[in-house]
Amino acid sequence: MSVSAFDRAKSSEYKEEFYADGGKLFCRFCKIVIDHKHKSVIDNHRHSKKHQTYIEIEKTLSSQSQKTRQTTIISHYKLLSESEQINLDFLYLRKKIVTLLK
Ligand SMILES: [Zn+2]
Repeated sequence: MSVSAFDRAKSSEYKEEFYADGGKLFCRFCKIVIDHKHKSVIDNHRHSKKHQTYIEIEKTLSSQSQKTRQTTIISHYKLLSESEQINLDFLYLRKKIVTLLK
């Protein structure tokens, strides 16, 4: 029996970090689709450096001042590859726009 993305997303183990949309499982922090059929894929993603970094950034963004945020973003850049930096730019821009709209 196959497990749906929705089933994965509502499990207590994953609901904090993942959500289901359009039959796909997304990581809340990295904003990417994860293969929900294989638990090992989800678990591997959760333990990846990239995922940990994004969680760290989200936590910092939601708890600290604008000035500290920028410093944190810059220090995290060093941990990421070039393509991941582009994703991060989008993430940061999105946050900035949300802040401006408030
Ligand atoms: Zn992730």
